Amino acid sequence: MYWDKEIECIKKDQLKELQLQRLKDTLKRAANAPFYKARGIGDYNIQDLSDIRKLPLTTKQDLRDAYPYGMVCTSLDKVIRLHSSSGTTGIPTVVYHSAKDIDMWTELVARCMYMMGVRKHDVFVNMIGYGLFTGGLGLHYGAERLGCLTIPTGPGNTKRQLKFMKEFGATVIHVIPSYAMYLADSIESMGIDPKKEFPTFKYAIMGAEPYSEETRKKVEDFFGIDAFNSYGLSEMNGPGVAFECTEKNGTHIWEDAYLIEIIDPDTLEPMPDGEEGELVITTLTRESMPIIRYRTKDLTTILPGECACGRTHSRLRRITGRSDDMMILKGVNIFPIQIESVLIGIPGVGRNYQILLETKGNNDHMIVKVELDANFFIDDYKSLENLRKKITHELRDEILITPEVDLCEPGSIPVAQGKAVRVIDNRKL
Ligand code: AMP
Ligand code: ZN
Repeated sequence: MYWDKEIECIKKDQLKELQLQRLKDTLKRAANAPFYKARGIGDYNIQDLSDIRKLPLTTKQDLRDAYPYGMVCTSLDKVIRLHSSSGTTGIPTVVYHSAKDIDMWTELVARCMYMMGVRKHDVFVNMIGYGLFTGGLGLHYGAERLGCLTIPTGPGNTKRQLKFMKEFGATVIHVIPSYAMYLADSIESMGIDPKKEFPTFKYAIMGAEPYSEETRKKVEDFFGIDAFNSYGLSEMNGPGVAFECTEKNGTHIWEDAYLIEIIDPDTLEPMPDGEEGELVITTLTRESMPIIRYRTKDLTTILPGECACGRTHSRLRRITGRSDDMMILKGVNIFPIQIESVLIGIPGVGRNYQILLETKGNNDHMIVKVELDANFFIDDYKSLENLRKKITHELRDEILITPEVDLCEPGSIPVAQGKAVRVIDNRKL
C-alpha cells in the first residue's frame, strides 16, 4: 500500500525536524547560486521553520532575470538535465537537475503512482508531452522505476493512442483533462463502447491544468475507471509535487521534499489555517537549483485533519485559480501580454482587445476580439479576411494554439474603468 512507508507516514514532529534540517542545508547550498548570493540568503538565522517568513520570496520573473545560469548553485559538471516551463513567452524559465535531483524526482513520482495503485505489472501509456515540458519525462521515469511497461506515446494522434491502448492492454494512462474529454468524444463519435473496447483499462492520471470534480466524474464514468489528480509545476520539478491517494480527497503534497506556506497574495502575510491563499513552496532536497519561497500563484487551501490513508503529509484542496493572469489552455501556459505583443505589431489593429475563453464540446476554445484601427481604412471583405488570417497565424506562432479571431469596429469593446478586463473566462471547469 505504501511505496516508502517510513517517509509517507512519518510522525508530524519528526517531519518538522527533517524539514528544518533540510531547510538549513538548502539555504547553505543556495547561497552559492549568484542570484541567492546577491540576496544574502546565507546570512539569515534560521532556528525554527517559522523563520522562513524572514526570507525573501522568489517569483517567475526572478527566474527569468537569473536566466540562463543565475540560479544554479552547483558546478555545471553536476547538472545533467534542464527543463523549461510550458510557457512560450520571451525568456523561458529554466530548471536544472543533477543526477541526484532526477533520482529524487523519479522517487517522488513512483511514490505517487504506487499510492494510487499502480504496480509493476501495469501497462502505462503516457499521453503527455515529452521534451522540455515536464509532464512526459517526469511520469515516464516514475513508471519505469515501478517496473511498468511504459509506452511513451506523447499527446495527439488519437487513433494511434486508442489502437495502442487496446492492443497492448493499457491499464493506466496519463492525460491532460481536456485531452481525456477529447478522447471520450472521439470514442463516442466512433460508436465504440469504451468499457468493452478497453477491458484492462483501470486508471487515469490527470493534471497540468485546473479541472473540476465534474470533469473527473465524467471521465471516470465514461471509461469505468478511477481518475487521480496530479499537481505539479516545472519550477518544483513538474509532476510528483502533490497527488491524490485512493481517498480522492485533496492531493498529498510531499513535505519531505517541499516546505509549503499559504500566503495572502496581496499582503504576502501568512493566511490563517484552513483559509484559501497562494501556495508558496521551498525545495528541500534540490541539489543543483534550490528555490526558496517560490510564489506558485496557485490558489488553494490546506485541508484540515488527517487522511484515512495513514499518510501524514498535508493535503491541498483542488486548485481553484491563480492570483495572476496566466491562462492554461490544453496544458499550455499563456499570458495575455503575449497576445498583446503580437497585436501591437500588426498594422490595422486598434488599441483594444479582449480574450474570451469558452468550452466548445469538451474543448477549450479561445476567441480574441480585436478592434480595428480607426485610421486604417479597410472596407472590402477580402482585405479584412486577410487581416484576420494574418492575426490568427501570428498568434498561433506565439501561443501555439489557434484562436478564433473576431474583428470589431473601433470603439466597440467596452473600456474598463479601472484595470482592463482582458480575459473573460466562461469555461465550464
Ligand atoms: P508548468 O510549470 O508548465 O507545468 O505549469 C504548472 C501550472 O499548471 C501550475 O502552477 C498550475 O497552475 C497548473 N496545474 C498543474 N497541475 C494542476 C492540477 N492538477 N490542477 C490545477 N492546476 C494545475
Ligand atoms: Zn491520503
